[in-house]
Amino acid sequence: MQIIRQLGLKMLPFIAVNTALWTSLGIALWLSTHHGVLAAESLELTEQEAAFLEQQPRLRVGIYPDWFPFEFVDDNGQHAGISADYLALVSEYLGIEFEIVVTPSWQQTLKALRDRELDMLSMAAFTPERSVYADFTEPYIRSPMVMVTRHDVPFLQTPSMLGEQTVGAVPGYASHEYLRNHHPYLNLVEAPSTRQGLTDVASGRLFAFVDNLLVVSYLIMDQGLVNLKVSGQLAESFDLSIAVRSDWPQLVAIMDKVLASISEQQRGAIYNHWIQTEFSTRTDYSKMLPFIMGLLVLLVGVLIHNWHLRVYRNSLQAANQKLREAEERLLLQNKTLEHLSLYDQLTKVYNRYKLNEVLSEHTALAERYAQPLSIVLFDLDHFKDVNDRFGHSVGDSVLRLFCQQVQASIRKTECFGRWGGEEFLLICPATPVEDATHLAERILDAVRQHQFPMAVQQTVSAGVAAYQPGDSVEDLIIRCDRVLYQAKQAGRDRVIAASLFDYPLPNQNRSSAV
Ligand code: GH3
Ligand code: MG
Ligand code: MG
Repeated sequence: MQIIRQLGLKMLPFIAVNTALWTSLGIALWLSTHHGVLAAESLELTEQEAAFLEQQPRLRVGIYPDWFPFEFVDDNGQHAGISADYLALVSEYLGIEFEIVVTPSWQQTLKALRDRELDMLSMAAFTPERSVYADFTEPYIRSPMVMVTRHDVPFLQTPSMLGEQTVGAVPGYASHEYLRNHHPYLNLVEAPSTRQGLTDVASGRLFAFVDNLLVVSYLIMDQGLVNLKVSGQLAESFDLSIAVRSDWPQLVAIMDKVLASISEQQRGAIYNHWIQTEFSTRTDYSKMLPFIMGLLVLLVGVLIHNWHLRVYRNSLQAANQKLREAEERLLLQNKTLEHLSLYDQLTKVYNRYKLNEVLSEHTALAERYAQPLSIVLFDLDHFKDVNDRFGHSVGDSVLRLFCQQVQASIRKTECFGRWGGEEFLLICPATPVEDATHLAERILDAVRQHQFPMAVQQTVSAGVAAYQPGDSVEDLIIRCDRVLYQAKQAGRDRVIAASLFDYPLPNQNRSSAV
Protein backbone atom coordinates (compact mmCIF):
# COMPACT_ATOMS: atom_id res chain seq x y z
CA MET A 1 0.00 0.00 0.00
CA GLN A 2 2.82 2.33 1.01
CA ILE A 3 4.64 1.82 -2.29
CA ILE A 4 1.53 2.31 -4.36
CA ARG A 5 0.79 5.60 -2.67
CA GLN A 6 4.35 6.80 -3.27
CA LEU A 7 4.19 5.99 -6.97
CA GLY A 8 1.23 8.27 -7.38
CA LEU A 9 -2.30 7.72 -8.56
CA LYS A 10 -1.40 8.06 -12.26
CA MET A 11 0.46 4.77 -12.23
CA LEU A 12 -2.27 2.84 -10.48
CA PRO A 13 -4.24 1.60 -13.50
CA PHE A 14 -1.00 0.62 -15.22
CA ILE A 15 0.21 -1.41 -12.26
CA ALA A 16 -3.15 -2.99 -11.69
CA VAL A 17 -3.52 -3.96 -15.32
CA ASN A 18 -0.04 -5.36 -15.60
CA THR A 19 -0.25 -7.36 -12.46
CA ALA A 20 -3.61 -8.78 -13.32
CA LEU A 21 -2.67 -9.49 -16.92
CA TRP A 22 0.43 -11.44 -16.15
CA THR A 23 -1.17 -13.17 -13.23
CA SER A 24 -4.00 -14.35 -15.46
CA LEU A 25 -1.67 -15.54 -18.17
CA GLY A 26 0.46 -17.13 -15.49
CA ILE A 27 -2.44 -19.06 -14.11
CA ALA A 28 -3.36 -20.19 -17.62
CA LEU A 29 -0.03 -21.63 -18.51
CA TRP A 30 0.96 -22.73 -15.04
CA LEU A 31 -2.17 -24.84 -14.77
CA SER A 32 -1.69 -26.24 -18.23
CA THR A 33 1.87 -27.30 -17.53
CA HIS A 34 1.38 -28.51 -13.99
CA HIS A 35 1.49 -32.30 -14.10
CA GLY A 36 3.15 -33.20 -10.82
CA VAL A 37 6.21 -34.39 -12.75
CA LEU A 38 9.26 -36.46 -12.04
CA ALA A 39 12.72 -35.12 -11.42
CA ALA A 40 15.35 -35.16 -14.19
CA GLU A 41 17.42 -37.92 -12.55
CA SER A 42 14.59 -40.44 -12.92
CA LEU A 43 14.94 -40.53 -16.72
CA GLU A 44 15.39 -44.21 -17.61
CA LEU A 45 15.72 -45.35 -21.21
CA THR A 46 15.36 -48.94 -22.33
CA GLU A 47 18.27 -50.62 -24.13
CA GLN A 48 16.50 -50.29 -27.46
CA GLU A 49 15.84 -46.61 -26.84
CA ALA A 50 19.44 -45.96 -25.91
CA ALA A 51 20.61 -47.88 -29.00
CA PHE A 52 18.22 -45.89 -31.17
CA LEU A 53 19.64 -42.61 -29.88
CA GLU A 54 23.18 -43.76 -30.55
CA GLN A 55 22.28 -44.25 -34.21
CA GLN A 56 20.56 -40.83 -34.34
CA PRO A 57 22.86 -38.40 -32.52
CA ARG A 58 21.58 -35.42 -34.54
CA LEU A 59 17.85 -34.91 -35.14
CA ARG A 60 16.37 -32.53 -37.72
CA VAL A 61 13.74 -30.33 -36.07
CA GLY A 62 11.18 -28.13 -37.83
CA ILE A 63 10.18 -24.94 -36.04
CA TYR A 64 7.84 -22.05 -36.66
CA PRO A 65 10.02 -18.92 -37.06
CA ASP A 66 7.48 -16.24 -36.04
CA TRP A 67 5.36 -17.50 -33.16
CA PHE A 68 6.40 -15.45 -30.16
CA PRO A 69 6.41 -16.41 -27.30
CA PHE A 70 6.14 -20.10 -28.25
CA GLU A 71 9.00 -20.17 -30.71
CA PHE A 72 10.69 -17.85 -33.12
CA VAL A 73 14.00 -17.01 -34.73
CA ASP A 74 15.64 -14.23 -32.71
CA ASP A 75 17.73 -11.28 -33.91
CA ASN A 76 20.85 -13.49 -33.96
CA GLY A 77 19.14 -16.07 -36.16
CA GLN A 78 18.82 -18.50 -33.24
CA HIS A 79 15.83 -20.65 -32.33
CA ALA A 80 14.32 -19.03 -29.21
CA GLY A 81 11.14 -19.08 -27.13
CA ILE A 82 9.45 -21.67 -24.95
CA SER A 83 10.05 -24.62 -27.29
CA ALA A 84 13.75 -23.70 -27.64
CA ASP A 85 14.19 -23.87 -23.86
CA TYR A 86 12.46 -27.24 -23.74
CA LEU A 87 14.62 -28.54 -26.59
CA ALA A 88 17.75 -27.33 -24.77
CA LEU A 89 16.74 -29.46 -21.77
CA VAL A 90 15.94 -32.44 -24.01
CA SER A 91 19.31 -32.10 -25.72
CA GLU A 92 21.08 -31.92 -22.37
CA TYR A 93 19.25 -34.95 -20.88
CA LEU A 94 19.70 -37.15 -23.94
CA GLY A 95 23.12 -35.94 -25.10
CA ILE A 96 21.89 -35.43 -28.65
CA GLU A 97 21.99 -32.43 -30.98
CA PHE A 98 19.20 -30.74 -32.87
CA GLU A 99 19.52 -29.28 -36.32
CA ILE A 100 16.93 -26.50 -36.56
CA VAL A 101 15.24 -26.24 -39.95
CA VAL A 102 13.05 -23.34 -41.11
CA THR A 103 11.07 -23.60 -44.35
CA PRO A 104 9.21 -20.75 -46.12
CA SER A 105 5.86 -21.83 -44.69
CA TRP A 106 4.38 -23.98 -41.96
CA GLN A 107 2.70 -26.13 -44.58
CA GLN A 108 6.10 -26.88 -46.12
CA THR A 109 7.45 -27.75 -42.67
CA LEU A 110 4.58 -30.21 -42.21
CA LYS A 111 5.28 -31.64 -45.66
CA ALA A 112 8.96 -32.03 -44.80
CA LEU A 113 8.01 -34.10 -41.73
CA ARG A 114 5.63 -36.16 -43.85
CA ASP A 115 8.41 -36.74 -46.44
CA ARG A 116 10.82 -37.64 -43.59
CA GLU A 117 13.08 -34.72 -44.42
CA LEU A 118 12.50 -33.72 -40.80
CA ASP A 119 12.52 -35.99 -37.76
CA MET A 120 10.34 -33.91 -35.50
CA LEU A 121 8.59 -30.60 -34.86
CA SER A 122 9.45 -28.84 -31.64
CA MET A 123 5.90 -27.63 -31.08
CA ALA A 124 2.72 -28.71 -32.80
CA ALA A 125 -0.87 -29.43 -31.86
CA PHE A 126 -2.30 -32.88 -32.45
CA THR A 127 -4.74 -32.96 -35.37
CA PRO A 128 -6.26 -35.99 -37.09
CA GLU A 129 -4.60 -35.04 -40.39
CA ARG A 130 -1.16 -34.74 -38.82
CA SER A 131 -1.56 -38.01 -36.91
CA VAL A 132 -1.31 -39.88 -40.23
CA TYR A 133 2.41 -39.17 -40.44
CA ALA A 134 3.35 -37.99 -36.93
CA ASP A 135 3.15 -39.20 -33.34
CA PHE A 136 2.62 -36.66 -30.58
CA THR A 137 4.03 -36.52 -27.06
CA GLU A 138 1.86 -35.47 -24.15
CA PRO A 139 1.24 -31.72 -24.54
CA TYR A 140 3.75 -29.61 -22.67
CA ILE A 141 2.01 -26.28 -23.04
CA ARG A 142 -1.56 -25.26 -23.66
CA SER A 143 -3.23 -22.07 -24.84
CA PRO A 144 -6.93 -21.48 -25.60
CA MET A 145 -8.09 -21.18 -29.21
CA VAL A 146 -9.86 -17.82 -29.52
CA MET A 147 -11.78 -15.69 -31.99
CA VAL A 148 -10.51 -12.14 -32.54
CA THR A 149 -12.74 -9.43 -34.03
CA ARG A 150 -12.96 -5.66 -34.05
CA HIS A 151 -13.88 -4.26 -30.66
CA ASP A 152 -17.47 -3.35 -31.58
CA VAL A 153 -18.52 -6.98 -32.12
CA PRO A 154 -20.52 -8.51 -29.23
CA PHE A 155 -19.41 -11.63 -27.34
CA LEU A 156 -19.37 -14.72 -29.59
CA GLN A 157 -20.53 -17.79 -27.72
CA THR A 158 -19.68 -20.18 -30.56
CA PRO A 159 -18.20 -19.85 -34.05
CA SER A 160 -21.68 -20.56 -35.47
CA MET A 161 -22.60 -17.02 -34.38
CA LEU A 162 -20.29 -15.76 -37.13
CA GLY A 163 -22.98 -16.68 -39.70
CA GLU A 164 -22.01 -15.63 -43.21
CA GLN A 165 -19.14 -13.40 -42.05
CA THR A 166 -15.58 -14.13 -43.15
CA VAL A 167 -13.37 -15.89 -40.62
CA GLY A 168 -9.65 -16.29 -41.20
CA ALA A 169 -7.19 -18.94 -40.05
CA VAL A 170 -3.71 -19.88 -41.24
CA PRO A 171 -3.79 -23.00 -43.45
CA GLY A 172 -1.85 -25.86 -41.90
CA TYR A 173 -2.55 -24.56 -38.38
CA ALA A 174 -4.62 -26.64 -35.98
CA SER A 175 -7.14 -23.77 -35.88
CA HIS A 176 -7.69 -23.99 -39.65
CA GLU A 177 -8.11 -27.76 -39.59
CA TYR A 178 -10.41 -27.56 -36.56
CA LEU A 179 -12.69 -24.93 -38.16
CA ARG A 180 -12.81 -26.81 -41.47
CA ASN A 181 -13.76 -30.10 -39.80
CA HIS A 182 -16.02 -28.91 -36.98
CA HIS A 183 -17.62 -25.79 -38.51
CA PRO A 184 -17.64 -26.52 -42.26
CA TYR A 185 -20.51 -24.05 -42.87
CA LEU A 186 -18.28 -21.07 -41.97
CA ASN A 187 -17.00 -18.67 -44.60
CA LEU A 188 -13.39 -19.72 -43.90
CA VAL A 189 -10.66 -17.62 -45.51
CA GLU A 190 -6.96 -18.59 -45.62
CA ALA A 191 -4.70 -16.01 -43.97
CA PRO A 192 -0.99 -16.12 -44.88
CA SER A 193 0.07 -15.65 -41.23
CA THR A 194 -1.31 -14.77 -37.80
CA ARG A 195 0.19 -11.29 -38.10
CA GLN A 196 -1.53 -10.73 -41.49
CA GLY A 197 -4.81 -12.29 -40.31
CA LEU A 198 -5.02 -9.86 -37.39
CA THR A 199 -4.12 -6.89 -39.60
CA ASP A 200 -6.90 -7.96 -41.99
CA VAL A 201 -9.43 -8.01 -39.14
CA ALA A 202 -8.26 -4.57 -38.00
CA SER A 203 -8.70 -3.16 -41.52
CA GLY A 204 -12.08 -4.87 -42.00
CA ARG A 205 -10.95 -7.25 -44.77
CA LEU A 206 -11.76 -10.15 -42.42
CA PHE A 207 -14.56 -10.19 -39.86
CA ALA A 208 -12.88 -12.59 -37.43
CA PHE A 209 -9.64 -14.49 -37.06
CA VAL A 210 -9.02 -17.66 -35.06
CA ASP A 211 -5.72 -18.53 -33.43
CA ASN A 212 -4.09 -19.15 -30.11
CA LEU A 213 -4.66 -16.71 -27.24
CA LEU A 214 -1.06 -16.11 -26.26
CA VAL A 215 0.18 -15.47 -29.76
CA VAL A 216 -2.69 -13.16 -30.72
CA SER A 217 -2.41 -11.27 -27.42
CA TYR A 218 1.24 -10.62 -28.07
CA LEU A 219 0.78 -9.63 -31.73
CA ILE A 220 -2.18 -7.34 -31.00
CA MET A 221 -0.07 -5.45 -28.49
CA ASP A 222 3.12 -5.58 -30.56
CA GLN A 223 1.37 -4.26 -33.68
CA GLY A 224 -0.71 -1.71 -31.77
CA LEU A 225 -3.98 -3.14 -33.15
CA VAL A 226 -6.07 -1.32 -30.56
CA ASN A 227 -9.38 -1.81 -32.37
CA LEU A 228 -9.22 -5.60 -31.93
CA LYS A 229 -10.46 -7.77 -29.12
CA VAL A 230 -10.80 -11.42 -28.17
CA SER A 231 -14.53 -11.98 -28.72
CA GLY A 232 -14.88 -15.62 -27.84
CA GLN A 233 -13.24 -18.94 -27.16
CA LEU A 234 -13.57 -22.21 -29.05
CA ALA A 235 -14.14 -25.61 -27.47
CA GLU A 236 -10.69 -26.59 -28.75
CA SER A 237 -7.39 -25.38 -27.28
CA PHE A 238 -3.87 -25.49 -28.67
CA ASP A 239 -2.38 -28.41 -26.74
CA LEU A 240 1.18 -28.21 -27.96
CA SER A 241 3.37 -31.29 -28.06
CA ILE A 242 6.55 -32.45 -29.72
CA ALA A 243 5.52 -34.12 -32.98
CA VAL A 244 7.73 -37.00 -34.13
CA ARG A 245 7.81 -38.84 -37.47
CA SER A 246 5.49 -41.80 -37.04
CA ASP A 247 7.92 -44.39 -38.44
CA TRP A 248 10.15 -43.83 -35.38
CA PRO A 249 7.86 -44.90 -32.51
CA GLN A 250 10.88 -45.22 -30.18
CA LEU A 251 11.51 -41.49 -30.51
CA VAL A 252 8.09 -40.39 -29.27
CA ALA A 253 8.45 -42.69 -26.26
CA ILE A 254 11.85 -41.17 -25.52
CA MET A 255 10.55 -37.61 -25.87
CA ASP A 256 7.63 -38.37 -23.57
CA LYS A 257 10.05 -39.68 -20.95
CA VAL A 258 12.20 -36.55 -21.18
CA LEU A 259 9.26 -34.19 -21.01
CA ALA A 260 7.86 -36.05 -18.01
CA SER A 261 11.20 -35.69 -16.28
CA ILE A 262 11.29 -31.91 -16.61
CA SER A 263 10.49 -30.62 -13.16
CA GLU A 264 7.82 -28.18 -12.15
CA GLN A 265 10.47 -25.63 -11.22
CA GLN A 266 12.08 -25.88 -14.64
CA ARG A 267 8.72 -25.46 -16.34
CA GLY A 268 7.99 -22.50 -14.10
CA ALA A 269 11.34 -20.92 -14.93
CA ILE A 270 10.74 -21.27 -18.68
CA TYR A 271 7.28 -19.85 -18.30
CA ASN A 272 8.47 -16.94 -16.17
CA HIS A 273 11.21 -16.15 -18.62
CA TRP A 274 9.02 -16.00 -21.74
CA ILE A 275 5.69 -14.91 -20.43
CA GLN A 276 6.44 -12.56 -17.60
CA THR A 277 9.79 -11.10 -18.64
CA GLU A 278 10.05 -11.20 -22.43
CA PHE A 279 6.39 -10.69 -23.12
CA SER A 280 6.25 -7.60 -21.00
CA THR A 281 9.56 -6.00 -22.05
CA ARG A 282 8.64 -6.32 -25.72
CA THR A 283 5.47 -4.34 -25.30
CA ASP A 284 4.95 -0.57 -25.08
CA TYR A 285 2.12 -0.39 -22.57
CA SER A 286 1.79 3.38 -22.54
CA LYS A 287 0.14 3.20 -25.99
CA MET A 288 -1.75 0.07 -25.19
CA LEU A 289 -3.40 0.82 -21.88
CA PRO A 290 -6.98 1.00 -23.22
CA PHE A 291 -6.50 -2.20 -25.19
CA ILE A 292 -4.87 -4.01 -22.27
CA MET A 293 -7.76 -3.11 -20.06
CA GLY A 294 -10.17 -4.55 -22.61
CA LEU A 295 -8.01 -7.59 -23.13
CA LEU A 296 -7.71 -8.11 -19.42
CA VAL A 297 -11.44 -8.28 -18.93
CA LEU A 298 -11.73 -10.75 -21.78
CA LEU A 299 -8.75 -12.76 -20.68
CA VAL A 300 -10.13 -13.18 -17.23
CA GLY A 301 -13.43 -14.27 -18.81
CA VAL A 302 -11.68 -16.74 -21.08
CA LEU A 303 -9.55 -18.22 -18.31
CA ILE A 304 -12.48 -18.59 -15.98
CA HIS A 305 -14.19 -20.49 -18.76
CA ASN A 306 -11.26 -22.85 -19.06
CA TRP A 307 -10.88 -23.85 -15.49
CA HIS A 308 -14.19 -23.04 -13.88
CA LEU A 309 -16.73 -24.24 -16.34
CA ARG A 310 -19.59 -23.95 -13.91
CA VAL A 311 -18.85 -20.35 -13.04
CA TYR A 312 -18.60 -19.67 -16.74
CA ARG A 313 -21.99 -21.24 -17.39
CA ASN A 314 -23.58 -19.14 -14.69
CA SER A 315 -22.05 -15.98 -16.04
CA LEU A 316 -23.14 -17.00 -19.52
CA GLN A 317 -26.69 -17.47 -18.28
CA ALA A 318 -26.57 -14.04 -16.68
CA ALA A 319 -25.20 -12.58 -19.91
CA ASN A 320 -27.95 -14.35 -21.85
CA GLN A 321 -30.52 -12.96 -19.48
CA LYS A 322 -29.16 -9.46 -20.06
CA LEU A 323 -29.20 -10.13 -23.77
CA ARG A 324 -32.83 -11.26 -23.56
CA GLU A 325 -33.72 -8.13 -21.61
CA ALA A 326 -31.91 -6.00 -24.16
CA GLU A 327 -33.75 -7.83 -26.93
CA GLU A 328 -37.08 -7.21 -25.21
CA ARG A 329 -36.23 -3.53 -24.84
CA LEU A 330 -35.26 -3.46 -28.49
CA LEU A 331 -38.49 -5.21 -29.45
CA LEU A 332 -40.47 -2.63 -27.53
CA GLN A 333 -38.53 0.20 -29.14
CA ASN A 334 -39.08 -1.39 -32.54
CA LYS A 335 -42.78 -1.68 -31.84
CA THR A 336 -42.92 2.01 -30.93
CA LEU A 337 -40.94 2.80 -34.05
CA GLU A 338 -43.21 0.62 -36.14
CA HIS A 339 -46.23 2.38 -34.68
CA LEU A 340 -44.67 5.74 -35.46
CA SER A 341 -43.89 4.66 -38.98
CA LEU A 342 -47.36 3.23 -39.77
CA TYR A 343 -49.80 5.46 -37.90
CA ASP A 344 -50.72 9.10 -38.10
CA GLN A 345 -49.89 10.76 -34.83
CA LEU A 346 -52.86 13.15 -34.68
CA THR A 347 -55.73 10.85 -35.64
CA LYS A 348 -54.18 7.44 -34.74
CA VAL A 349 -55.35 5.96 -38.02
CA TYR A 350 -52.95 4.50 -40.64
CA ASN A 351 -50.68 6.95 -42.42
CA ARG A 352 -50.16 7.31 -46.15
CA TYR A 353 -47.15 4.97 -46.15
CA LYS A 354 -49.21 2.13 -44.70
CA LEU A 355 -52.17 2.88 -46.98
CA ASN A 356 -49.91 2.63 -50.01
CA GLU A 357 -48.59 -0.68 -48.78
CA VAL A 358 -52.08 -2.13 -48.21
CA LEU A 359 -53.30 -0.79 -51.53
CA SER A 360 -50.39 -2.43 -53.40
CA GLU A 361 -51.19 -5.75 -51.75
CA HIS A 362 -54.89 -5.54 -52.57
CA THR A 363 -54.42 -4.40 -56.15
CA ALA A 364 -52.11 -7.40 -56.64
CA LEU A 365 -54.72 -9.75 -55.12
CA ALA A 366 -57.53 -8.17 -57.15
CA GLU A 367 -55.47 -8.65 -60.31
CA ARG A 368 -54.52 -12.25 -59.54
CA TYR A 369 -57.91 -13.52 -58.34
CA ALA A 370 -60.14 -11.15 -60.35
CA GLN A 371 -61.74 -9.92 -57.13
CA PRO A 372 -63.52 -6.58 -56.84
CA LEU A 373 -61.71 -3.81 -54.95
CA SER A 374 -63.04 -0.32 -54.27
CA ILE A 375 -61.59 2.75 -52.64
CA VAL A 376 -63.17 5.90 -51.20
CA LEU A 377 -61.32 9.22 -50.95
CA PHE A 378 -62.83 11.68 -48.42
CA ASP A 379 -62.07 15.39 -48.19
CA LEU A 380 -63.51 17.59 -45.44
CA ASP A 381 -65.43 20.51 -46.90
CA HIS A 382 -64.30 24.07 -46.30
CA PHE A 383 -62.04 22.85 -43.59
CA LYS A 384 -59.80 25.85 -43.87
CA ASP A 385 -62.76 27.92 -42.63
CA VAL A 386 -63.03 25.75 -39.51
CA ASN A 387 -59.43 26.50 -38.67
CA ASP A 388 -59.85 30.14 -39.46
CA ARG A 389 -62.99 30.58 -37.39
CA PHE A 390 -62.38 28.27 -34.41
CA GLY A 391 -58.65 27.77 -34.32
CA HIS A 392 -56.33 24.92 -35.20
CA SER A 393 -57.03 22.82 -32.10
CA VAL A 394 -60.76 22.70 -32.85
CA GLY A 395 -59.78 21.74 -36.40
CA ASP A 396 -57.65 18.94 -34.94
CA SER A 397 -60.48 17.55 -32.86
CA VAL A 398 -62.82 17.65 -35.87
CA LEU A 399 -60.26 15.54 -37.75
CA ARG A 400 -60.05 13.07 -34.84
CA LEU A 401 -63.83 12.86 -34.47
CA PHE A 402 -64.28 12.33 -38.20
CA CYS A 403 -61.86 9.39 -38.02
CA GLN A 404 -63.77 7.90 -35.11
CA GLN A 405 -66.99 8.20 -37.12
CA VAL A 406 -65.48 6.34 -40.04
CA GLN A 407 -63.90 3.64 -37.90
CA ALA A 408 -67.24 3.02 -36.18
CA SER A 409 -68.86 2.50 -39.60
CA ILE A 410 -66.43 0.13 -41.30
CA ARG A 411 -65.59 -3.59 -41.12
CA LYS A 412 -62.33 -5.15 -39.92
CA THR A 413 -61.39 -6.14 -43.46
CA GLU A 414 -61.57 -2.51 -44.57
CA CYS A 415 -58.57 -0.29 -44.12
CA PHE A 416 -58.83 3.40 -43.32
CA GLY A 417 -56.14 6.05 -42.98
CA ARG A 418 -55.04 9.62 -43.47
CA TRP A 419 -54.01 10.33 -47.03
CA GLY A 420 -52.80 13.84 -46.12
CA GLY A 421 -54.11 17.09 -44.56
CA GLU A 422 -57.91 16.75 -44.37
CA GLU A 423 -58.06 13.94 -46.94
CA PHE A 424 -58.65 10.32 -45.93
CA LEU A 425 -58.66 7.03 -47.83
CA LEU A 426 -60.79 3.95 -47.24
CA ILE A 427 -59.78 0.67 -48.92
CA CYS A 428 -62.63 -1.85 -49.33
CA PRO A 429 -61.33 -5.25 -50.49
CA ALA A 430 -63.76 -7.66 -52.17
CA THR A 431 -66.30 -4.82 -52.47
CA PRO A 432 -68.03 -3.71 -55.69
CA VAL A 433 -68.24 0.02 -56.37
CA GLU A 434 -71.98 0.19 -55.54
CA ASP A 435 -71.44 -1.21 -52.03
CA ALA A 436 -68.52 1.15 -51.41
CA THR A 437 -70.69 4.07 -52.56
CA HIS A 438 -73.43 3.10 -50.08
CA LEU A 439 -70.89 2.86 -47.31
CA ALA A 440 -69.49 6.30 -48.20
CA GLU A 441 -72.98 7.76 -48.16
CA ARG A 442 -73.67 6.28 -44.73
CA ILE A 443 -70.45 7.84 -43.45
CA LEU A 444 -71.31 11.24 -44.94
CA ASP A 445 -74.70 11.03 -43.28
CA ALA A 446 -73.18 10.18 -39.91
CA VAL A 447 -70.84 13.18 -40.20
CA ARG A 448 -73.71 15.42 -41.16
CA GLN A 449 -75.60 14.32 -38.02
CA HIS A 450 -72.61 14.52 -35.72
CA GLN A 451 -72.40 17.24 -33.11
CA PHE A 452 -68.88 18.58 -33.47
CA PRO A 453 -67.40 20.96 -30.85
CA MET A 454 -68.27 24.67 -31.15
CA ALA A 455 -71.31 23.54 -33.15
CA VAL A 456 -69.13 23.16 -36.22
CA GLN A 457 -71.29 22.06 -39.14
CA GLN A 458 -68.84 19.76 -40.85
CA THR A 459 -69.60 18.02 -44.13
CA VAL A 460 -67.48 15.77 -46.27
CA SER A 461 -67.18 15.05 -50.00
CA ALA A 462 -66.19 11.63 -51.30
CA GLY A 463 -65.07 10.01 -54.54
CA VAL A 464 -65.41 6.25 -55.09
CA ALA A 465 -63.52 4.18 -57.65
CA ALA A 466 -63.21 0.46 -58.38
CA TYR A 467 -60.11 -1.41 -59.44
CA GLN A 468 -60.01 -2.36 -63.11
CA PRO A 469 -57.67 -5.07 -64.49
CA GLY A 470 -54.35 -3.57 -65.46
CA ASP A 471 -54.71 -0.62 -63.08
CA SER A 472 -51.70 0.54 -61.11
CA VAL A 473 -52.19 1.99 -57.62
CA GLU A 474 -51.67 5.44 -59.13
CA ASP A 475 -54.32 4.84 -61.82
CA LEU A 476 -56.86 3.92 -59.17
CA ILE A 477 -56.07 6.90 -56.95
CA ILE A 478 -56.11 9.37 -59.85
CA ARG A 479 -59.52 8.10 -60.97
CA CYS A 480 -60.86 8.41 -57.44
CA ASP A 481 -59.37 11.88 -56.99
CA ARG A 482 -61.02 13.01 -60.21
CA VAL A 483 -64.52 12.08 -59.01
CA LEU A 484 -63.81 13.63 -55.60
CA TYR A 485 -63.02 16.85 -57.46
CA GLN A 486 -66.32 16.48 -59.34
CA ALA A 487 -68.12 16.10 -55.99
CA LYS A 488 -66.54 19.37 -54.82
CA GLN A 489 -67.46 21.09 -58.07
CA ALA A 490 -71.03 19.86 -57.82
CA GLY A 491 -71.53 21.59 -54.45
CA ARG A 492 -69.72 19.36 -51.86
CA ASP A 493 -71.34 17.12 -49.17
CA ARG A 494 -71.91 14.30 -51.68
CA VAL A 495 -70.49 11.05 -53.02
CA ILE A 496 -69.65 10.52 -56.69
CA ALA A 497 -68.52 7.15 -58.00
CA ALA A 498 -66.28 6.82 -61.03
CA SER A 499 -68.11 5.28 -63.98
CA LEU A 500 -66.67 2.92 -66.57
CA PHE A 501 -66.15 5.89 -68.84
CA ASP A 502 -63.63 7.31 -66.43
CA TYR A 503 -61.21 4.48 -67.10
CA PRO A 504 -58.23 5.30 -69.24
CA LEU A 505 -58.20 3.15 -72.40
CA PRO A 506 -55.25 0.71 -72.68
CA ASN A 507 -53.32 2.82 -75.22
CA GLN A 508 -54.34 6.15 -73.84
CA ASN A 509 -51.55 8.42 -72.60
CA ARG A 510 -52.05 8.11 -68.86
CA SER A 511 -50.74 11.49 -67.85
CA SER A 512 -53.20 13.23 -70.16
CA ALA A 513 -56.04 11.13 -68.73
CA VAL A 514 -55.63 12.77 -65.31
P1 GH3 B 1 -62.45 22.18 -49.84
O1 GH3 B 1 -63.87 22.04 -49.44
O2 GH3 B 1 -62.29 22.66 -51.23
O3 GH3 B 1 -61.69 20.96 -49.57
O4 GH3 B 1 -61.89 23.34 -48.93
P2 GH3 B 1 -60.85 23.22 -47.80
O5 GH3 B 1 -60.80 24.49 -47.02
O6 GH3 B 1 -61.15 22.01 -46.98
O7 GH3 B 1 -59.55 22.94 -48.60
P3 GH3 B 1 -58.12 23.60 -48.51
O8 GH3 B 1 -57.22 22.67 -49.27
O9 GH3 B 1 -58.20 25.02 -48.99
O10 GH3 B 1 -57.73 23.63 -47.03
C1 GH3 B 1 -57.44 22.49 -46.28
C2 GH3 B 1 -57.15 22.90 -44.88
O11 GH3 B 1 -56.94 21.81 -44.03
C3 GH3 B 1 -55.99 23.83 -44.78
C4 GH3 B 1 -55.18 23.26 -43.65
O12 GH3 B 1 -54.79 24.23 -42.72
C5 GH3 B 1 -56.12 22.29 -42.99
N1 GH3 B 1 -55.36 21.20 -42.35
C6 GH3 B 1 -54.59 20.30 -42.94
N2 GH3 B 1 -54.04 19.47 -42.00
C7 GH3 B 1 -54.52 19.88 -40.79
C8 GH3 B 1 -54.32 19.46 -39.43
O13 GH3 B 1 -53.58 18.50 -39.14
N3 GH3 B 1 -54.97 20.13 -38.45
C9 GH3 B 1 -55.79 21.20 -38.75
N4 GH3 B 1 -56.39 21.80 -37.72
N5 GH3 B 1 -55.95 21.63 -39.98
C10 GH3 B 1 -55.35 21.00 -41.00
MG1 MG C 1 -58.13 18.92 -49.48
MG1 MG D 1 -61.11 20.10 -47.89
